[in-house]
Amino acid sequence: MHFTIKPCSFTCNLNCDYCFYLPKGQDFLQKGQMSDETLEIFIKKYIESSVDNRVYFTWQGGEPLLMGVEFYQKVVQLQHKYAFGKSVENAIQTNATLLNDRWCEFLKKEKFLVGVSIDGPQDIHNKYRLDRQGHGSFDAVMQGIELLKKYKIEFNTLTCISKANYKEPLVVYKFLKDIGSTYMQFSEVIETTPENCDFDNIPLQYTKKEFALDPSDYGYFMSDIFKYWVKHDIGTIIIRQFESAISTMHGLGALSCVFEDNCPDSYVIEANGDVYECDQAVYSKYKLGNIKDLDLTKINTNKINRIKKNLSNDCKTCTYLSLCSGGCPKHRLNLVNGISKSYFCDGYKILFKVMTPYLNAMVALTEQKIPYVQVKTIADKISMF
Ligand code: SF4
Ligand code: SF4
Repeated sequence: MHFTIKPCSFTCNLNCDYCFYLPKGQDFLQKGQMSDETLEIFIKKYIESSVDNRVYFTWQGGEPLLMGVEFYQKVVQLQHKYAFGKSVENAIQTNATLLNDRWCEFLKKEKFLVGVSIDGPQDIHNKYRLDRQGHGSFDAVMQGIELLKKYKIEFNTLTCISKANYKEPLVVYKFLKDIGSTYMQFSEVIETTPENCDFDNIPLQYTKKEFALDPSDYGYFMSDIFKYWVKHDIGTIIIRQFESAISTMHGLGALSCVFEDNCPDSYVIEANGDVYECDQAVYSKYKLGNIKDLDLTKINTNKINRIKKNLSNDCKTCTYLSLCSGGCPKHRLNLVNGISKSYFCDGYKILFKVMTPYLNAMVALTEQKIPYVQVKTIADKISMF
């Protein structure tokens, strides 16, 4: 079991054009900050009911730094109080614009892993990631990253692939490398009107938002990065989609929930204590109840998994099913004989086709007891076929 916590729900100091959280805040979700009472109940129940001896807390928003250092000092105290002999780890996903010395001293001392949202160099990042006055947030983010480096705080990056950056995969990738990111997540952006908030009865007609990717945009973007990465950086830079495919090919299962055949029990809790099956499913249908009433040993992700496992015939017969598992239910916007299929299908196929010969070579190396990262030494040859 894993929890993502949104202690200030959708409240954010930025106003990114493509953010799918902020409009929800206006529509139907309670705003405000998590109360001390809710926080304490949650921390106690979460650690107590975890079967693992390591319990991971991921703090997210909106912008979780808006809660202030004092809130997280309370978090750490409560984690100690209710440790039940288990070890606790914290990660925080931030836009980095509010970081200062006080924050960094705290994050360093308490060993928080920091995830920074950044979409690429200045002109790319500033296209959609704007502050409330409509100005680009790039300079403030970079100041935050410099502080993280000054304090030697480990950070990774989360990059949305959108119309701002899809044509510049290597510019984005090399930029992320240059700023010191060694763990990169890339998230494909698709938002529609009307919103796909049911997953069961998808809109028969929808309009894509202006910033949304075409499926092939995703495929070419990730393929170009893969071809560069496999030759230069495999083994030193971690990219979740790629590691996931490598793990699957080695029979170890996917590492990204999008490509797992099961939505893992990875829940989200909002500021008011409401718990949902997944961060992508903060819709009334997928609400499990409020933390005050819930027994966390009895919750599950059954509703969303019913959709995840209901595959179209295209998926059932697809060569890439083991790598893809039909993708995320939130992205299943196309109907095939009445069953939904991923909007990104064509993009996934482009990427998997490029990856397959390299993945096969990696498995062959592993079988010969050679570290699969040595594929980089034969990457040029593979690319010729
Ligand atoms: S690549 Fe397309 S058809 Fe194949 S499993 Fe994924 S979504 Fe389904
Ligand atoms: S709904 Fe999507 S994001 Fe949520 S666990 Fe399933 S695949 Fe992952």
